[in-house]
Amino acid sequence: MTETYKNYINGIWSTAEKNETIESHNPANTDELVGKFQSSTVNDVNAAVDAASSAKLAWKKCTGNDRGDLLFKVAAIIEGRIDDIALTMTKEMGKTLAEARGETARGVAILRYYAGEGMRSIGDVIPSTDKDALMFTTRTPLGVVGVITPWNFPVAIPIWKMAPALIYGNTVVIKPASEAAITCAKIIECFHEAGMPEGVVNFVSGAGSVIGPALSGHSEVNAITFTGSNSVGKQLAQKAVERGIKYQLEMGGKNPVIVTEDANLDLAVSATISGGLKSTGQKCTATSRVIVHSSVYEEFKSKLVKEVSAISVGDGSSEDTWMGPSVSQTQLDTVLSYIDIGKKEGAELLTGGEKVNESKGYFITPAVFDSVTSEMTIAQEEIFGPVLALMKVDSIEEAIDLANDSDYGLSASIFTSDISKMLSFIDDMDAGLVRINAESAGVELQAPFGGMKKSSSHSREQGKAAIEFFTNIKTIFIK
Ligand code: NAP
Repeated sequence: MTETYKNYINGIWSTAEKNETIESHNPANTDELVGKFQSSTVNDVNAAVDAASSAKLAWKKCTGNDRGDLLFKVAAIIEGRIDDIALTMTKEMGKTLAEARGETARGVAILRYYAGEGMRSIGDVIPSTDKDALMFTTRTPLGVVGVITPWNFPVAIPIWKMAPALIYGNTVVIKPASEAAITCAKIIECFHEAGMPEGVVNFVSGAGSVIGPALSGHSEVNAITFTGSNSVGKQLAQKAVERGIKYQLEMGGKNPVIVTEDANLDLAVSATISGGLKSTGQKCTATSRVIVHSSVYEEFKSKLVKEVSAISVGDGSSEDTWMGPSVSQTQLDTVLSYIDIGKKEGAELLTGGEKVNESKGYFITPAVFDSVTSEMTIAQEEIFGPVLALMKVDSIEEAIDLANDSDYGLSASIFTSDISKMLSFIDDMDAGLVRINAESAGVELQAPFGGMKKSSSHSREQGKAAIEFFTNIKTIFIK
C-alpha cells in the first residue's frame, strides 16, 4: 500500500487542512508511485508558525549542551536508517544509491558537528577603556526561522540549515521541495523520535507558490533561509526586506574549470566528469564551463569525450548505473531545450544530449559541446543538467577573464601544477569557493559555503560561519 506522509506541527503528525495530497513518482520509472504527501494551505503554515513561536522561549532557555544532546540523538537515528533514507532519495529524485548514501552520511556528520557547537564559545571579551567595566559580546537566537529547500540535496540541505538554526536556539518551520518531500519527511521522523520538544521543528509540505509567500510573509517568522532558483530567491528577498527580517539565499551557479598547459590531464578529466555529471549535473556547484589551454585542448577533449560517452545512464538504484535520470519532465525538457539552443547558436555537440526514448524515466545521455564562446546561452545560463561546454584559451589571464564572465560566482576550479597560476586564480577568481586540483563540487561541511554575485545573498552557510546568520550579536557593557 502507498504510504501517505503527513505534516509535522507542534509534535503531531497531521493531515493538511483540505486533506489533499500530492503524489511522488520515481523519475527513473514514472509508473512507480513512491508515496503521497500533504498539499498544505496557508492555514497549515500559520499553525506551524504558531507552534514554532510558542516553543521558541523554552527552546532558547535550554542549554546548548541539551540542544546538542538532541542533535546527537537525531544523528544516531538517521545513521541507523541510512539505507532506507538513501533508497527513498534515489526513488524520489533519481540520484544513484551511492550518492544518496553519501549524502545521508553527510547529514549525520553535519548534525554531529553542530551538536558539538552547543558546547563552544559564542562571544568575545572586548577590552574596555573604562577600568571599572566589563565588555563582551553574546549571541541571541533570531526566533522562528523559515527554511525552504530544493530537491537536489533533500537530506543535506535541510540538515545544514536546521542543525545550526536549532543549536543556536531557534525554532524552525521547514518547507521541502515537492520533488523530494518524502525524503525530508523521513528526516523529520528522526527528529520526532529523538524527542524534540513540541513545536521546535515543524514540517509543512505542498506547493512552494502557496507555502513560500505564507511563510516569508508571516509576522512571527524572524528569518528565512532558502536554497533554490534565483527567481524564487528574488521574491523571498523582496519580502524579507519589506518586513525587515534576515534572509539567506543560496542559488545558482555556472561553475568554471580551468585546465592549464601544465595540468595533470587525467586528473582534470576525471574531476570534470565527476564535478559536472554526478547527480546528473543537478548540483549548484556542478562544473558547466570547461576552459582549456590550446596546447592541451585536443588531448583533453578526446579523453573527456571518450570517458563521457562510456557513462552508464539508468535507474540510480542499480549498481551498474553511474548517472541517474533528470528529476522531472520539466527538468528534462529544460536540458533538451538548452541542447537545441547550443546547436542553433553554433556550438558543436560532440557526444550525448539525447533523450533515452524507450524508457519510462527522464533519462538523457551526458553531453559535451565544443567550440563554445562566452556570449552563447549555454555558456551563460544555468542548465542544471549533464552538459559540459568546452572553451579554448591561450593564456591564464584569458582563462580567468572568461571564467569571470558570468553573472554567477559560486564555485571555480583550476587544474595546474604551477604555483603562480594557482595564486593568480586565488586572487582574481570571483567565486565563493575556489578549488585547486579538485572538482568544483564538494565542499567539506566544516568550511563556509556560499557564492558571490547572483549565486548567493553573501552570507555563508555551514561550519562556524552559520552562526552569523542564525543569531544576532548583543554587545554587553557592565559598569
Ligand atoms: P526552486 O524552484 O527555486 O525551489 C526551491 C524551493 O522553493 C522549493 O521548496 C520550492 O517549492 C520553493 N518555492 C517555489 N516557489 C516558491 C515561492 N513562490 N516562494 C517561496 N518558495 C517557493 O529551485 P529547485 O528547482 O528546487 O532547485 C534548483 C535550483 O536550486 C538551482 O538553481 C540550483 O542552482 C539551486 N541550488 C543552489 C544551491 C546552493 O547552495 N547555491 C544548492 C542546491 C540547489 P516547490 O518544490 O513546491 O515548488
